[in-house]
Parts: sequence; structure tokens; C-alpha cells
Amino acid sequence: MTPSIHRRALFVGASALAVASTMREAVAQSPAAGPYRLDPLPYPANANEPHIDAKTMEIHHGRHHQAYVTNLNAALANHADLAKTPLPDLLAGLDKAPEAIRTALRNNGGGHANHTMFWQIMGGKGGEPTGELKAAIDRDLGGFEKMKADFNAAGARQFGSGWVFVTVTRDGKLAITSKPNQDTPLMEGGRVLLGNDVWEHAYYLTYQNRRPDYLGAWWNVVDWAKVAERYAAAKAGTLTI
Ligand code: MN
Repeated sequence: MTPSIHRRALFVGASALAVASTMREAVAQSPAAGPYRLDPLPYPANANEPHIDAKTMEIHHGRHHQAYVTNLNAALANHADLAKTPLPDLLAGLDKAPEAIRTALRNNGGGHANHTMFWQIMGGKGGEPTGELKAAIDRDLGGFEKMKADFNAAGARQFGSGWVFVTVTRDGKLAITSKPNQDTPLMEGGRVLLGNDVWEHAYYLTYQNRRPDYLGAWWNVVDWAKVAERYAAAKAGTLTI
């Protein structure tokens, strides 16, 4: 071994040790590294098959959502007051956040809120809403079939990445809206009844470019009991994310 190669080998070895040490530190510090954490999926990753495949669920939750949480915590690392602010308030007050972290909060705070809602309302068997929620859909959105058609059309129209939502006011009024990127109606002080992720990472493994097919199939995994809980919470003023 020539001296130059030997020095290089030592250098690489030292770098690898430094990386391993940093990783241990990150793991050890993770509970205190920020106010947010990724909750486990509330059902097995294959619970939404065949409409959403398990691999998509694993990557979407474990990598994409985890990245939003990690980056949100990183953005808040030196902002103790903002780190204590509830996420809906943080998102509704982005204009008051320091400019240096405003975009990071918007993208990653929005991403954390959107995905937290998203996992919660899936894992079901589709079907139709009942009771007060059905009555509100009939009253405000022209009935269940029209709601689905309008929602799917809004999701298909969203250029690039984004979300399509049904929003709900404190008096129970419903509306359909779409947002780019990880924006959410929470940023306008609104509340989300349900929403679907139309980023390609949500559907590409199974549906490739066929977003309308994904939008149509997604209704088969909606948990209407969970959506009804969110509707009741919105009317009670206790719905947060
Ligand atoms: Mn997503």
C-alpha cells in the first residue's frame, strides 16, 4: 500500500466513523429534536389493497411523511415559541413566522397536517356516509354522487402536485377546494373534513399517470365512520388537524 492510498483509506475510515457517530446522536436525540413525531399508520400497510398497494403506503408514510416531520422539526429547532404553537395556529399564521423559515413551515407543516388527516380517514371499506353528514352533503354538495364527481374533477384538474379537500365550517357547511403542493385550508383558518393526496407519490406504483383512476378507486378505502367523527368534531369546535 502506498502512503497516499493509506492516507486515503484512513480518511474514508474516519469519515465513516463520523457519520456513524452523527447517526447515533440523531437517534439518541430524536425524542427531543422537535415537537413533532410520526405516528404509526392506524392499520396495516396492506389495509387499503387492492386500491392502494402496501408498498405505496409504506413509502408514503415511512419516507415522505417522515421527511415532512423531520424537516418541520429542523425548521423549528431555534424557534422555541413557534415550536410550542399548535400546528393549525402555526399554519394559519405563516405570515407572522420569520421569513427565513416560512417556506419550510408552509411545506413541511402543511405536509404533516395533510398526511395526518389522510391516514386517519382511510383504512375503511368505502360505502356511503349516513346521518347528519349525508344530509350536509345533500344540502351543500348536491348529493354523494355529485360530490365524488366534483371532488375527482378538482383533483384531476390540480396541475402538478397538490391536494383536493372537502372543507367544513363550524356550522357544518361543506365545500370542495383544491390546493397546490402541501398547502391546506388550515392556512386560511379553515377546517378539513377529508382530503385526497394527488401527488404522484400517492399513486404512481399502481396507477402510473392515471390519476383519475386513482381518484375513482380511493373512495373504496374511505372510512366514513372516521369522517363522521371529524364532522362532529368540526361542529363541536374540537377538530384540529
Ligand atoms: Mn403525500
